Amino acid sequence: MSELSFRDLGLSEEILKSIEKLGYKKPSSIQEKVIPVILNGKDIIAKAKTGSGKTAAFAIPVCEKIELEEREPQVLVLAPTRELAYQIKEDFLNIGRFKRLRCISIFGKEPISNQIRELKQRVHIVVGTPGRVLDHIERGTLNLEKVKYFIIDEADEMLNMGFIEQVESILIKMPKNKNTFLFSATLPEEIVMLSKKYMKNFENIEVQNEGKTKGGIHQVYYEVESREKFDLLKKVIYKEVPGSSIIFCRTKNNVEDVLVKMKNMKFSCMAIHGGMLQENRIAVMNAFKRGEFTFLIATDVAARGIDVENVTHVINYDIPMEKESYIHRIGRTGRMGNKGIAITFVTSKEERFLKEIEEQFSLEIIKEEPPTREEVKKGQEVFKTASKQLNKTKANKSEKLNKDITKIYLSAGKKKKIRPGDIAGTISSIDGVSPEDIGIIDIHDNFSYVEILSGKGDIVLNAIEDKTIKGKKVRAEKAQK
Ligand code: AMP
Repeated sequence: MSELSFRDLGLSEEILKSIEKLGYKKPSSIQEKVIPVILNGKDIIAKAKTGSGKTAAFAIPVCEKIELEEREPQVLVLAPTRELAYQIKEDFLNIGRFKRLRCISIFGKEPISNQIRELKQRVHIVVGTPGRVLDHIERGTLNLEKVKYFIIDEADEMLNMGFIEQVESILIKMPKNKNTFLFSATLPEEIVMLSKKYMKNFENIEVQNEGKTKGGIHQVYYEVESREKFDLLKKVIYKEVPGSSIIFCRTKNNVEDVLVKMKNMKFSCMAIHGGMLQENRIAVMNAFKRGEFTFLIATDVAARGIDVENVTHVINYDIPMEKESYIHRIGRTGRMGNKGIAITFVTSKEERFLKEIEEQFSLEIIKEEPPTREEVKKGQEVFKTASKQLNKTKANKSEKLNKDITKIYLSAGKKKKIRPGDIAGTISSIDGVSPEDIGIIDIHDNFSYVEILSGKGDIVLNAIEDKTIKGKKVRAEKAQK
């Protein structure tokens, strides 16, 4: 961590307030290096992994630079997976909250019509997966003319997942006069070529191991035959008494199988895999982030980029098919300097593959003997007491930040010619409420939403009944979400 404070980096009060509410005390190494460069208007190629605080490293200065009044998107972020796109959007919303920045995510498997509607409104930041972004560009529903910042996150993943052609097609449609930031955990030749082709004056940024994958992660493996895996899993859980943990399986069927078995044993668990609807995937991830259950059983959809505070254990119930996935999976624990434990089950046939992973990434993965009967027995007792405490919900970061924010539904929208200024005008005329207390205003055809900050939601709800917006009586109530 740095000696500098966020204030030393010259950020505005609105952004500093969000950072403070998020609980970030000091900039991480990557933030200390990246924030000034972005504020100074240079391009960046950064070698940084998730877990180093890299999202905030670009989101903080970019939010600082955005012009609030501009209607068309000023920032486009590309991410390889939908979960990651959603998470980056949440980070932008949190950091830009007090500046009232609007950010949306656009990805496949979600109705495009909703996204088109959102894109018609004022949007400052768009985060998306390459395919859907390209789709919107081709339909003419995403206007890139005003984009000042183009961010490619997890660039090496994009390469692995075959997105690079789409990324290039998007790149050539971008305005010339913009900054490009490329974040990548590794810098393979193709990425370097891409950057040389499209970026001129860029700064190379690299940080040491702070808060990232292998540093704080103790890695072990157990040799086990397939049919004995579940029995070993139980024993390992009792021995380790883990907190929030992710259990990775190779296929959707294996995930379902482990889920049913764990549920039968009354473990607190849920599953996530690519066969689920996107909204269910997001709901499960959010519940996991809030600590509503202990074990997330997942395929590799949860391996990349996903950020959950305090994951104590990653268990590879099945060894991944690709070597890189091992690094992504275990990177879900040991984040921002915390300690983590990664446990991998290997069959006798797979042991060699694990050795190759160990060599390729210069890791140390220690062989463990199966837990003894005594260890299991002792652990079972501890586990019973511990799991009662574990299930206490942990507030996730956004929720902490959102505590003082009330989203209000208003029964009038575009069709009644309501504009953000009309809503802001009425609300700020209420006694005890000032323009600073009004957050993001979102106007739909027949209704609108407005966020009220600083815990003043109830004052507004009580007073607005007696007011009019643009001369019209409007019904107001607390929004559902
Ligand atoms: P990322 O590398 O973007 O996936 O971020 C990893 C985690 O660190 C996220 O939970 C962030 O909210 C958190 N984080 C980012 N910056 C800081 C900071 N300066 N201090 C503490 N936590 C941070």
